[in-house]
Amino acid sequence: MKKNKTKHPLPRLEDSSGFRSSLLAWYDEYKRDLPWRAKPSLYKTVISEFMLQQTRVSTVLPYFDRWVNKFPDFQTLAVASEEKVVKAWEGLGYYSRARNLHKLAKIASIWKTPPETVKEWKKLPGVGPYIAAAVTSIALEKPEAVCDGNLVRVLTRIFAIKEEYKDGATAQKKLHPLAQSLIDHHRSGDYNQAMMELGATVCHRQSPLCLTCPVVNFCESGRVGHAENFPKIQKKKNRKKSIQRYWVENEDFLLLYSDLNSKNKLKGIYELPHQLPESFQYSSGNIESLGIRKRTIGNVDYEEEIIRISAFTKESSQLDSDYLWADSEKRKEISLSGPHRKWIEEISLRFL
Ligand code: SF4
Repeated sequence: MKKNKTKHPLPRLEDSSGFRSSLLAWYDEYKRDLPWRAKPSLYKTVISEFMLQQTRVSTVLPYFDRWVNKFPDFQTLAVASEEKVVKAWEGLGYYSRARNLHKLAKIASIWKTPPETVKEWKKLPGVGPYIAAAVTSIALEKPEAVCDGNLVRVLTRIFAIKEEYKDGATAQKKLHPLAQSLIDHHRSGDYNQAMMELGATVCHRQSPLCLTCPVVNFCESGRVGHAENFPKIQKKKNRKKSIQRYWVENEDFLLLYSDLNSKNKLKGIYELPHQLPESFQYSSGNIESLGIRKRTIGNVDYEEEIIRISAFTKESSQLDSDYLWADSEKRKEISLSGPHRKWIEEISLRFL
């Protein structure tokens, strides 16, 4: 039994077994038909949980199917090249997840039996408390509760928790003991998935569907129509960052950049360059702004202005190894950052 380390006693449901029964009965009838739930396996659970980190189910669906076709098990994934693995992940973002998954597969491919505890899973590459609890409960039926953003929303609403959390991660950590206190010990994997499903499909951030919610009778805020007051999380202002990106074409070829020696997550992922080689010569008359693209990564709002250099000196076409002239075939072959691929497809219609 885990000890509750919180100073205050956990809130309790009067009829916690009734709550679990209502939730699981709803889940059995209405759960989404997701590919990792059909013929589930440890491998499929690990892949889906890595992909679902900070990514919507609808985005993950086509990736998951392609991935499992290409790499059907830990062994196949373990022997694939890192380049191939990152290419298969292209567009899902947060590429460190793909690299960690690859490292994990190399370890898992020689397991006689997989580790069974959250503590052991957390030692594996890319596995934090959430993935460790999800995998051990869903694939190994251990009574370990997950506590992600969905759980934070559902729990704070059910118990009308007024505490204001510094951020989402703090809320997840503080609410974990409460999530753990409610878990169903006989169907822990289904229980965790049901809570996440409830958060994703019923207990929406805005306009939760309380009138048809399977656990409304257990929900303090839902019963009185105050659900949207919870959770209470301090709002942080995102940082703003402006970057210039360069569009340089040479007949059918486009100039791309990747920091090949970088240790960061974008290693080997090509983008429109944010800097040009020093040897690159062009005059101000050959510069044109193609517009600004906006995107948010984590808590940073990026504004990326794409600047076209329409003419440059011949000598400057000699580039160091971080740069690449890529024609359409090469661009299909290499890993491009997801948003950059979209921008390139759009702008290519005019210039390539
Ligand atoms: S009753 Fe409403 S607030 Fe409560 S869990 Fe259901 S959807 Fe969420």
